Order: sequence, then structure tokens, then C-alpha cells
Amino acid sequence: MKTPVSLTIDEPLFKTLHRHLFPGDHDEHGAVIAAGVAETERGTRLLAREVFLAKDGVDYVPGTRGYRALTARFVVEKSSYCADQNLCYLAVHCHGGWDSVGFSSDDNASHERGYPALLDVTNGGPVGALVFAENAVAGDIWIRQGRFRLDHLAVVGPRIRRLYPTPQPRPPHADPVYDRHARLFGDIGQAILHRLKVGIIGLGGGGSLLNEWLSRLGVGHIIAVDFDRVDLTNLPRVVGATQLDALSFLTAQRNGWLRKLGKRFARHKVHIARRVAKKANPSICYDAIVGDVLDEDVARSLADVDFLFLASDSIQSRLVFNAIVHQYLIPGAQVGAKVPVNENSGEVGEIFVATRPVLPYREGGCLQCHGLIPPSRLRDEALTEGERRAQRYVGYEGITEPSVITLNVLSAAQAANDLMMMFTGLYNDETTMPQMINFIRDRQLITVEPRSDEYCLSCGSSAKSRRARGDRARLPCRMPIQ
Ligand SMILES: [Zn+2]
Ligand SMILES: [Zn+2]
Repeated sequence: MKTPVSLTIDEPLFKTLHRHLFPGDHDEHGAVIAAGVAETERGTRLLAREVFLAKDGVDYVPGTRGYRALTARFVVEKSSYCADQNLCYLAVHCHGGWDSVGFSSDDNASHERGYPALLDVTNGGPVGALVFAENAVAGDIWIRQGRFRLDHLAVVGPRIRRLYPTPQPRPPHADPVYDRHARLFGDIGQAILHRLKVGIIGLGGGGSLLNEWLSRLGVGHIIAVDFDRVDLTNLPRVVGATQLDALSFLTAQRNGWLRKLGKRFARHKVHIARRVAKKANPSICYDAIVGDVLDEDVARSLADVDFLFLASDSIQSRLVFNAIVHQYLIPGAQVGAKVPVNENSGEVGEIFVATRPVLPYREGGCLQCHGLIPPSRLRDEALTEGERRAQRYVGYEGITEPSVITLNVLSAAQAANDLMMMFTGLYNDETTMPQMINFIRDRQLITVEPRSDEYCLSCGSSAKSRRARGDRARLPCRMPIQ
């Protein structure tokens, strides 16, 4: 098991658990968390999928050895549920106190008595225990090969925060270049941004803006995914792209062969983005992935980011992005601009830009539940060029839509502000984050309230949904070529 080990929980589930543990009676209470798991480059992420509250006096009773304990019946019932669902079993209780907490010797003794057997019941786990104070949490996580302590609990909502077993040391003063930032969100806020790893899917118009802004914000690590090379027609929109990157001395030629050669060797968009990011912040850690998020290995490389942007306009990439958000409990946002032009008359329709936060819980803005991943368009995109021609296919694909940098800015800026506010505590847990659609010509800004379907395979909680399952579910990527 890779360390550090962390647990991520969404804000609504955390609130349910916290209210149960701390009703104001200063007594001990218990619960069980069923969690998925993701093994990533940055450690093992446990992902809270469900919380079972133990009823006081029924499921959580005076113990024979410790003060109180979950009843054997409750433990058996919930651990077999976890085994059936291929989830990890985590027993939870609380102690008094505010920002420090640890297991008692009775707690540790009971783990040593119980967990080896529980590992057998749950197919090797992990299994474990968490103990909460009002604002702290410690954890003892077991697998067959050993035992690990929980590094922290991450709560994902409009305000993203971490709980640790003890108060964290104050960060050193932020680099003086960030003086104006620190005046807004403090050295702590700047340190949080420095610790972030942020994914960007699509480094064209919107994505290249996000890339530059995040680097200047002081985000410590960016992972950028795009298979595309820069093209002459991208130069007005892709931040930092030059004529030389696009090999315009070749691609502007009439000679088809020279044009092809230019297109083939033009610079990849992710490499331009890396250059821009390094200029803005020389100490940034940068992963430039020339690849497609529709491929499972590329998609899985995003499983440890703290935030994920989707700035690519295919419906298939929406499907995968939405699945990553919910399967790995990673908050994200989709950005885009739309300039509909009537094919026949050339008339320009409603120009709008959209910023759509997608948070990993029901009513968090799931793209599927909002009807933004229509199956008919997924099917259309899956057709090959030849199949499209054979069907005399006319649609959005193949028809190049207008695109202008000033429109991209509007959708991307709101999304970048959301990231900054969510991580530095400028939003609180009650902040609502509906989608924002800005109709430019009417100067009309509308918000779209969250919609959600209980049976959604991404955000729903039915046994079939991928929510919080991490590595233990498939992503809707294309099948690898054998
Ligand atoms: Zn205890
Ligand atoms: Zn949904």
C-alpha cells in the first residue's frame, strides 16, 4: 500500500457523520464508513461512499473492555456488506476535544483483536478505524501486510479542507512575489495552492488560459492532457503559441505535402502549455501528457489530482471527466463557449459561455444528470469518418465552429476563481455553486440549479453506480486495441 494514506469524503456525507458524532452531548457515538480505494502516485486514497450511523444503545453499546463499542451484529452486518460491494470497512467513533485526537490503549487493543479476522471477511481489506474530535481525525488502517496511520481526511465541497490528528505547523511566510495573494488568503492559502495538483483536459483556447492563470496563482503541480498539435488557426487563442510552434512557414504553404509535414511536426499543445507554466512559475512541477483522456491509462493518471478542469469540447471526454469526478471524488469544472452559426443562412445564434462546477455528490452538478452527455451524440462521435460519410452525416462534428479567445476567458475565469475560493476558504460549506451561463449579446447571466437522478450511474448511490469506487470500477474509456 502506498503512503501517505488519506480518506476523502464529500461535504454532505461528512455533515451527516459529524452531526451524528457531535450532537452536543459530549458523549461517544459510532458509525461505519464503506469506502472505495485508489492507489495513486501520491499515495493511497480511500474514498467514502456510504456512512452507516450506529444507533446509540442498539448498535453502539457499553463495551466489555472499552467504554463503548459497536455490537458484534452491527460489525458483521456492515463488514459483510462491504465485502459484497468490494468496499473497505472503516469503524468510526469520537472522543472529546477540538483539534487533537488519538486512539486510546483500549481502542488499539480492540483493533489488534478484531482486524486480522475482519481482513479475512473483507477479502483483504483494507479495514480500519477512525477516531474523531470536533476538528481532528486519526486513523489506523490495516491490510494483510501491515498497518498504516491515516495522514488526513479531505472534505470535498464548496470549501475544501483537511482534518489531521493534530494541528499542523504554520506554513513559512509565502514567497514575496505572492504578497498580494497573501493579503487575500494568507500564507496558509498560498501554501495550500502550492500543495495542489490540478489536472487540465484540453489545452486549446480555454485550457491554455487556465494553465497560465493557475501557474501564476502558484499552483504547485499541473498535469495537462491533450493529444493535439498546435495549428495555424489556434494561434489567436492558445496562450503562448508562436508561428514557429505551428510551423507556419510550412503549414501556410499551398503545397499539400509541405502543409502535411508542418502539421505533423508542429508542437504539441501540452508542450506549449508547459513552457508557459514554467515561465510563470519556474518551480512548478509539470506533467505534459500527449494523450487522450478516452484511454484508460491516461484517465487513471488523473486519479490523484485535487481538482480537474475539462476544457475540451467532445461529448466522450465529458463522459470520462464526469466519471473521474464521481468515481474518485475529485471536484472539477467544465468550461466552454458556444457560438452557434446556421449552416445555411450563416446567421449567428445565441452566443453563450458556460462554467459548470461538477462536485462529487448528488446535486453537485453532474453533467450526466444535466443532460449534457446525450447518448445520441456519444454514438455520433464514436463513428469513423467513413461511417459518417456513408450516412451522409451532417452534424456538429466536421463542421468547425467559431471560437474566440475573449469568449473563452469568461468561462475559464469563473472556474479558476472557483478553484481559488474553494481551496483558500473564501467559500464556506453553505456556498452554492450552480452552473453559470452567460448570454453575451443579451448581457444576461443565468444560473442553472443542480439536478440529480438517484439512479445515475455516476453520482447516484445505487449499488451499480461508480460513485467513490476508485480503482474498483471501470471508467467509461474506450477498449484498448488488442
Ligand atoms: Zn476511543
Ligand atoms: Zn448524475
